[in-house]
Amino acid sequence: MSPEARPYDIAGLKARLGGIRTEENPALVRQKSRDFYWYSPTLKRQLDAVSGDIVAFPASEEGVLAVLAACHALAIPVTPRGAGTGNYGQAMPLDGGLVLDLSGLDRVREIGPGRVRAQAGAIIADIDAACAASGQELRLHPSTYRTASIGGFIAGGSGGVGSISWGGLRDLGNILSLRIATMEASPRILELTGEEVQTVSHAYGTNGIIIEVEMPLAPAYGWIDAIIGFEDFAEAAAYANALGEQDAILKKLISVIAAPVPQSYFLRHRKYLPDGLHVVLVMVAPIARAAFESFTRRWNARPLFRSDLVGPEEAKGLPPLYELAWNHTTLRALRVDPSITYLQTLYPFPDQLALVARIHERLGDEVPAHLEFVRFDGRITCFGLPLIRFTSEQRLEEIVTLHEQLGIPVFNPHRYTLEEGGMKQTDAVQLAFKREADPQGLLNPGKMIAWDHPDFDFGAGRTYLFPGLQRHAAASDATGSAA
Ligand code: FAD
Repeated sequence: MSPEARPYDIAGLKARLGGIRTEENPALVRQKSRDFYWYSPTLKRQLDAVSGDIVAFPASEEGVLAVLAACHALAIPVTPRGAGTGNYGQAMPLDGGLVLDLSGLDRVREIGPGRVRAQAGAIIADIDAACAASGQELRLHPSTYRTASIGGFIAGGSGGVGSISWGGLRDLGNILSLRIATMEASPRILELTGEEVQTVSHAYGTNGIIIEVEMPLAPAYGWIDAIIGFEDFAEAAAYANALGEQDAILKKLISVIAAPVPQSYFLRHRKYLPDGLHVVLVMVAPIARAAFESFTRRWNARPLFRSDLVGPEEAKGLPPLYELAWNHTTLRALRVDPSITYLQTLYPFPDQLALVARIHERLGDEVPAHLEFVRFDGRITCFGLPLIRFTSEQRLEEIVTLHEQLGIPVFNPHRYTLEEGGMKQTDAVQLAFKREADPQGLLNPGKMIAWDHPDFDFGAGRTYLFPGLQRHAAASDATGSAA
């Protein structure tokens, strides 16, 4: 888009940003305006043309405050970005404007017994590396451990590796405190603790910029990766559930993946995966090795792989087990078959195993099963991240509806708004905080329906379309430079 066609005063903005590094090259701005939205054929169609106008790379808290103040003065939208590994188009600037790249705020500030304080842009694996000397590690991390930022995880993620023992980010105590900046003429710094952290956690950066985080730590173990095979899928799921309930066997991951997904898509582990077997992926602490073996012998199970039993040369060629789990299962499938997509579901306790059996009986090989076991409100249950052999958007919607009719909530990854990707209702706490912290509605516009369209009827079966997205796409089409 030519500078004069821009709806925002980008030249005026640059003049105010002084020494802060910015990028305006359209190809690079477009790159920084993307995340993993393309996992969804629906979002790919809707969001492909989305791009910001400029990216800013502040390297300090003062720099972030200067960018926010300048954008506020010129009414330019700001979309924060960690590493851009989110799904749902979370980090995509639907109304253009400035992408606030926080990767320069990457310092680990302080490590103490049971806690770490780090800047929001720090990569999660780097935080753990800094904590290793004290024998500690983060309780939870997404499977994008090696690429995602801690601020992006808190603003966009939910849980993952570690959730089988510790629950999710939504659980009180899994985020100790957050230091955030507001979007006002003179941005304020606020320290949130206890329940207050829920206002900005999983709010997609719509109501505050996370500058620093304080997270709880757990003892670090050199976790053993294990793969267990089962002839029968229902037995694999029952084993995983029962292993989850073994409180004294320390584990960090329990995933169940139906054949033929592992054999077709886990290419580097292929030789360990006989045809026809459903697999359970387990990360278990070395001190629990013998207990885990004894527990597994009680089942009709076939141990297929153990990271502590392969030689160092062989181990080098294998990804860590968590990179076969959570949304990495989908990624590995997509690399082999680009027509695959997925869903995110919750199987509510205590009927999780029966619900898993019912839905997969209905959907068969069109929707191969993938379960992630977690501790949820103190109980062991599972999320589903089933793969979908995509045929049409209409069929995708039918599959969502089938789940909901059986009482399986869907966190729809084919929607870009907070509400539609979550529980299809307004989060009153996040909305109230946005009124306080972003009164002009400049942070990540279009992601919170409650802000843009308070009367939107979630029960009417319509998809929300952010008007700014259409405006921006139309402007881009007119100048022919959006793609
Ligand atoms: P981004 O994608 O950059 O941002 C995510 C959201 O947070 C955006 O809305 C952005 O605007 C906002 N944001 C970023 N930084 C800030 C900040 N400092 N202040 C305010 N808002 C901010 N998620 C899970 O929860 N568990 C998983 O196991 C998991 N596995 C995944 C596997 C794959 C292969 C992929 C592609 C995604 C996976 N995700 C998972 C989603 C994603 O990786 C995580 O949510 C991740 O932690 C996001 O971090 P990020 O730095 O890439 O954030």
